[in-house]
Amino acid sequence: MAINNGEEQQNQIIGHTDLAHKTLLQSDALYQYILDTSVFPNEHPCLKELREMTEKHPRNLMATPADEGQLIRMLIKLINAKNTMEIGVYTGYSLLSTALALPSDGKVLALDVSREYYELGLPIIEKAGIAHKIDFREGPALPLLDQLIQDENNKGAFDFVFVDADKDNYLNYHERIIDLVKVGGLIGYDNTLWFGSVAVPDDAPMLDFVKRLRGHVIELNKYLAKDSRVEICQLPVGDGITLCRRIS
Ligand code: SAM
Ligand code: CA
Repeated sequence: MAINNGEEQQNQIIGHTDLAHKTLLQSDALYQYILDTSVFPNEHPCLKELREMTEKHPRNLMATPADEGQLIRMLIKLINAKNTMEIGVYTGYSLLSTALALPSDGKVLALDVSREYYELGLPIIEKAGIAHKIDFREGPALPLLDQLIQDENNKGAFDFVFVDADKDNYLNYHERIIDLVKVGGLIGYDNTLWFGSVAVPDDAPMLDFVKRLRGHVIELNKYLAKDSRVEICQLPVGDGITLCRRIS
């Protein structure tokens, strides 16, 4: 079962082929330039295959864009991450990016309410030869996180966590993940610019789902900026990703 979150609704309302809605950059040509020049030439063939397969799926706007996948791979390598987690898998572009960047004995715990979505990309993930690094668990992430923090061994055990699921739960996820990620470890919260809506007046015209979740994203952004347990950096990549390095 899949929860119909904001990005899914965006897909239904706007359509999924318009590049302009995949990026916060003001020019499609500039974004295409970045992809053509710096991203696609070095994209792993299985990532390319997964991306092209996902493009045909009706909810493809949910997919992590290729440039953001590249950023995730770079971050994982820079911090030498070994034990990682992802909340919100869909067909697996960010998951495959993560698994490819991890060392051969690295792990990614992948949580999603929909096994169906995960299984769409699974044959390609298997072809990439990295499936042994993935531990997929089906179900809502919050109870799974609660289960994880019951075990003291999991506290401070994760080097990197990527959160890309239901935006109205991010603060709940944060309160759990902060104990699971190690000091010096990294959390990435995705869609923190929420289609640019975080910076427009409350009464500006906007699509219903944007309006419904916008308050949660604004609240998260304010909260992260004053949370003394993390040091943050918000990047305008994809729909905005906020990196949080745990410092205490
Ligand atoms: N990271 C993915 C990628 O690279 O393509 C995109 C993830 S998509 C934006 C959001 C995903 O979150 C969907 O697959 C949806 O099924 C999942 N999801 C929604 N609510 C959830 C919840 N409460 N717990 C776990 N997964 C959830
Ligand atoms: Ca996303």
